Amino acid sequence: MTGPRVRFAPSPTGFFHVGSARTSLFNWLFARQTGGTFILRIEDTDTERNRDEWHRGIIAAMAWLGLDFDEGPFLQSEFLFDHVASAEALFANGFLYACDCTREQIDERIKGNAKPGYDGHCRERHVARSDATALRFRVPDTGTTVVHDMIRGDVEFPHDSYEDFIVVKSSGAVLYPLANAVDDRTMEITHVIRGEDLLPTTPKQVMMWEALNHCPEVTPVPHPLYAHLPMLVNEQRKKLSKRKDPVAVESYRDQGYLADAFVNYLALLGWSPRGDDEIVTRSTLVEQFRLGDVSHSPAFFDVRKLTHVNGEYIRALSIDEFIEQSAPWVRPWTTGWRPGDREVPWTKEQFSEELFAKVAPLVQERVATLGEIPAMVDFFFQDEVSFDEVTFDKTIANDPVGRELLRSAITTFETVQWQASVLHEATLWMGEALGMALRKSQAPIRCAVTGRSVGPPLFESLELLGREVTLTRLRDALARANA
Ligand code: GLU
Ligand code: ZN
Repeated sequence: MTGPRVRFAPSPTGFFHVGSARTSLFNWLFARQTGGTFILRIEDTDTERNRDEWHRGIIAAMAWLGLDFDEGPFLQSEFLFDHVASAEALFANGFLYACDCTREQIDERIKGNAKPGYDGHCRERHVARSDATALRFRVPDTGTTVVHDMIRGDVEFPHDSYEDFIVVKSSGAVLYPLANAVDDRTMEITHVIRGEDLLPTTPKQVMMWEALNHCPEVTPVPHPLYAHLPMLVNEQRKKLSKRKDPVAVESYRDQGYLADAFVNYLALLGWSPRGDDEIVTRSTLVEQFRLGDVSHSPAFFDVRKLTHVNGEYIRALSIDEFIEQSAPWVRPWTTGWRPGDREVPWTKEQFSEELFAKVAPLVQERVATLGEIPAMVDFFFQDEVSFDEVTFDKTIANDPVGRELLRSAITTFETVQWQASVLHEATLWMGEALGMALRKSQAPIRCAVTGRSVGPPLFESLELLGREVTLTRLRDALARANA
């Protein structure tokens, strides 16, 4: 007996949804922990969504997250023959019957019925099959189907709430519930781990699985266990919306979330590690994760918390790792990859690896995503300061004391020893002489040199920029205010 076999079976949508990422991760964790097999099967049979680049997107996103699969990628469309063969077996053994009713006829007949949906009209009519007939599954009139769910326990679905559903359309297309179950049988899947939104279809799949096991020409396959993962919701406790909520994993990658931080956060969506610390390594996740401990209540996808977790991961990097990880955001020309459409605010010629290595420790403490770095350090590499006009007006143009401070800084900074602590001291007493608190006396200098009101520690930055550049910027800012 080999270990469990699980699969991640996304339908391509053009981007990788955070819900898919969570499903993929929980399958991966379960497989890695149990020594099982993790399979990627792309369910591409909806032909409109069958685009090569979309498949590549799924594979790339999983690679970024470090979710490696052991078998696949398979495409569901490779197994069309099996889907048809299984449908034929079900038909030959009386589990499916042909139905030639049109939508209008059905609607007309079922008006006012207590039980919604198809009324079983063709069950015993023995309609001849043609290109106008669909095949429906004969749902037993009484009894229940039980779904054995590792998270929810046994969930019972009474048969009288299911209509005789369509399995094969009149076009001959085998619909997703059967195709998906047939592939799970072929791949000998032991645990179906997927989103809660699919739970209503599961009893249909269990019924068809059971029926296939009763077809003499089909090899019986034991039923898998199910695990339906809790829904992801937004702040309003509504199901995440593709349009309104930021759900694309690629956009988090492009903003500079670290894959490890993202994986750690995803693991918290419906599950939590033992102990108080939610920030745990990937190997701890593999070790501690239990499907049975996954909660069934909806999980809030909280971007703020994700960002917090990411900040913690960034601060935990060694300085060399931090510099390495920042590369696509600060010197994409060396990595060959630029995140999304992001432009770097300096040229290759303006950038200095050496200077960035010195600046890096100052920003590592202050960013929550790598994407925040360029705007925080652009003044080191750009020749001209890009001013935030509101800050400029507030701290320099409309503040005579601020301009006074810049004037004394120009004189003082010409001669003091060029060292952060000395510059700090000097600014303190210049400000004091003008009746300003330190925070206020820093503001016009910061604005003149960096263009902004926030950034890395000011005096360390001045030390790195050097006396000449600092003095020029102080003078230029004054001139700009007087212009
Ligand atoms: N491809 C379907 C989906 O993404 C089914 C997934 C599954 O059964 O895991 O919704
Ligand atoms: Zn019918």
